[in-house]
Amino acid sequence: MIKEKNPNFKGLWARYNKHEIVKINDEFYIRPQEKSDYEIYNIFDVEKELLVDFLKIGKEALNYADENDIRCDIMSTEPEYQEMVLEFVNKYGLLGELTYHLTNTHIVSSGEVYTQGYSKVEKMSAGEYIKPYFIGNDDIQQIDFDNGQNEDIITKVYGIDNPNGQEYAHFNKGEDFSLVFSKSYTEKVAHILLFSRILYRTFSSVENSLWTEDNNKKVIYQKYASGFIPNDIAFKFDFNKEKTYLDWEFNSLIQAIEVILAFNETNDRKEVKMCKHCGKPFVAKNLNSDYDSISCRNVANVYRNRAKNKKK
Ligand SMILES: [Zn+2]
Repeated sequence: MIKEKNPNFKGLWARYNKHEIVKINDEFYIRPQEKSDYEIYNIFDVEKELLVDFLKIGKEALNYADENDIRCDIMSTEPEYQEMVLEFVNKYGLLGELTYHLTNTHIVSSGEVYTQGYSKVEKMSAGEYIKPYFIGNDDIQQIDFDNGQNEDIITKVYGIDNPNGQEYAHFNKGEDFSLVFSKSYTEKVAHILLFSRILYRTFSSVENSLWTEDNNKKVIYQKYASGFIPNDIAFKFDFNKEKTYLDWEFNSLIQAIEVILAFNETNDRKEVKMCKHCGKPFVAKNLNSDYDSISCRNVANVYRNRAKNKKK
């Protein structure tokens, strides 16, 4: 079966190849290893795999019956979950949580940060916002971020070999991204689990709303899925020699995954599906397949036959 091809989408992101998980003040953080190298890649070259890998973490993170966010803090202490997050981040890079929440840009130059709170925009100083993303680095904790760029920010935070602003790769996402792609930048393992879990719940709600024959359930699933509103997304044209690309100006890897999910769910030829039996996300080789494995299909058939026999 010929699958519909994407338009020429482009969305670049940088990843370091080796990360480590460190425990600081009783919480677990993930950051690039000192001796790691970065690579810049096009998210759309791996979009399906990326979406499936992230949703898989989200499904595991939902395994606890308890819906509380605090669960993610507990899970982040367990090697099993740490391993999943580490594997994901080594493959695709950190999520870019720092830039994801911003509603203004050039936070270092302006010294001010605005984020969208629950009901209103919240304001804080650049230092107050930035420092928790550089936890464990005492030098950086001493730096003044509130009065514009300075030598310490450029040398100690951005570093000499920051992927952002590399001419050869045409990779310059603006000054805020020099923070996110710093080798000292950290993200909380619990937050990565939380993001993946929110996304899996959106995904499974859309999938379930399509399958269920119970109209009351359908309404609830759709209501939950409607709560999914990615923040502002910008794009521009990128004129290449042979092709014109639609270059998405993602503010983070999370935002990119949200867009990929939205395209997937609204495509009649959906390729990333949820297994009807076990709930795992998978890339469907055949667009009609509802199960991720032969065993799931067989088990589901057995259930179906039993149900049929009971009715007789
Ligand atoms: Zn399955």
